[in-house]
Amino acid sequence: MLTSGGFGHPRMGHMSRTLHPGELLEHETELMAQPISVPGRTLEDVLIPARGFLPARTLQPGEVLRIVDVEGAQVADVLLFAPRNLKNVSSMSNTQVLASSWNITLGHTIYSKFGDRMATIVNDTVGRNGAVGGFCNPASNFLRYGIEGTHSCLSNLVSSMRDYGLAPLDIQEGVFCPFMCVNYGTGGELTIELPKSRPGDYLDLRADMEVIVAMSNCPSEHNPCNGWNPTALRAVIYKAEGNEPLVEPHSREEV
Ligand SMILES: [Zn+2]
Repeated sequence: MLTSGGFGHPRMGHMSRTLHPGELLEHETELMAQPISVPGRTLEDVLIPARGFLPARTLQPGEVLRIVDVEGAQVADVLLFAPRNLKNVSSMSNTQVLASSWNITLGHTIYSKFGDRMATIVNDTVGRNGAVGGFCNPASNFLRYGIEGTHSCLSNLVSSMRDYGLAPLDIQEGVFCPFMCVNYGTGGELTIELPKSRPGDYLDLRADMEVIVAMSNCPSEHNPCNGWNPTALRAVIYKAEGNEPLVEPHSREEV
């Protein structure tokens, strides 16, 4: 099923006509026409417009969310919830400690705040992902750039979780950021750099339990996080079949 994700903000450069919910722009229709092959049966295929979000949905154990960076250098912000307790969200501190790594990539498992094994990365063609846990929000954007009321991953995640009735204060830190390139210097420096993802790169996240997945297509455009130019992502949900060989990340040698 081909569908479109949501967008809670005017899409820059395409203001000449009114879009109906779920309607794809011509450019986006072209992107969706490009086939994506997955090692299993596709259940859903959703284009998430630049600055938009994936309406949250439940993954059953064994189902895989493939996040495709359609045009390159674009970051996703993914927050996982345990369906029976929405306070039991993905925890990047638990995940990093258990992985003994700040770069969460192929083979690593995302753990919840209360210690549940939520999902595992079973493919990652890039090999660099952000696990700081936080996400862009109006408060930090004002402190960083002096701009009030910016569109942000916080509002996208609230929109993503709309059917679950969560308010901004309910959205806790614990976000995993596929393709986000965070560097830690030996002197303690932390910098956000241009993603290493190229058009068509992807990361596969396999649910290890029933999880609700919320996702923002990061709208940040005042730093290199998305190459100063937010673009579309694609979310393909599939049921894995067989044991496909894992794809080695292309940037592993650069890490
Ligand atoms: Zn963001």
